[in-house]
Amino acid sequence: MCLFCPTPSAAPSSPWSARRAFFLLAAGAAAATPVLAQVDVGSSSSLRKLVPAETLENSAAQQYRQMLEQARAKRALAPDNHPQLQRLHAIAKRLIPFTTPWNDRAKQWRWEVNLIGSQQINAFCMPGGKIAFYTGILDQLKLTDDEAAMIMGHEMAHALREHARERIAKTQGTNLALRLGSQLLGLGDLGQAAAGLGGQLLTLQFSRSDESDADLVGLELAARGGYQPSAAVSLWQKMGNATGGKQGGLAFLSTHPSGPARIKELEQNVPKVQGLYEAARRNG
Ligand SMILES: [Zn+2]
Repeated sequence: MCLFCPTPSAAPSSPWSARRAFFLLAAGAAAATPVLAQVDVGSSSSLRKLVPAETLENSAAQQYRQMLEQARAKRALAPDNHPQLQRLHAIAKRLIPFTTPWNDRAKQWRWEVNLIGSQQINAFCMPGGKIAFYTGILDQLKLTDDEAAMIMGHEMAHALREHARERIAKTQGTNLALRLGSQLLGLGDLGQAAAGLGGQLLTLQFSRSDESDADLVGLELAARGGYQPSAAVSLWQKMGNATGGKQGGLAFLSTHPSGPARIKELEQNVPKVQGLYEAARRNG
């Protein structure tokens, strides 16, 4: 199930160049900022390039629109003036400026955040930056702004790190290769497959590596946005304590198991981004 590819990438949009850009920016803006300690995640898998990003993003946007229409028809789509939606918009606004170093394509994304009235504990970000939160995750876990920012960062990270693209490349690539009797697939060969996969995007399950990756990148995004890093730990403690069963919240928890390993990894990474958080708070 794990699709993680350890092959280092020299692509100019790799996090290494992103880190350097961050460093230069920070050095220029605030010399007093401590040396930037950042989360350490590998390069994105080059396997994902088998699926054209643009095709997948278009497919996701279409699927997102359909989902919103269905929610609207059930009167479950929060209006723009809903206080919880405004809260989510405020969080997104603080995180989005820090997304592009992780993925150059994000410069062109039209980020959207919507709130769906449902008791389910759920939230996601589809390829291209289409985010949805369910009211259940905010209400049942009684999330603070810092904790909600950790979820938002985590979900944004899945899109930025193109985990869906990678997963589809892996599963569809294998199917196609088997069908063609060949393992030699070129760039873009999965374009047609990706175009019809929008429906699967809502049910994709990521690997544990992807989850860990999203936790750490999300933690850093939220810290840069000025959200308390320790909230990542309290968030997953709340997730772990949520039974969810009573009100159908198990779907998210089953794809996002909260256990000691997850919490420990986050605890170990909190100090790495603490300086970013403090700098963000100082700079207002
Ligand atoms: Zn996740």
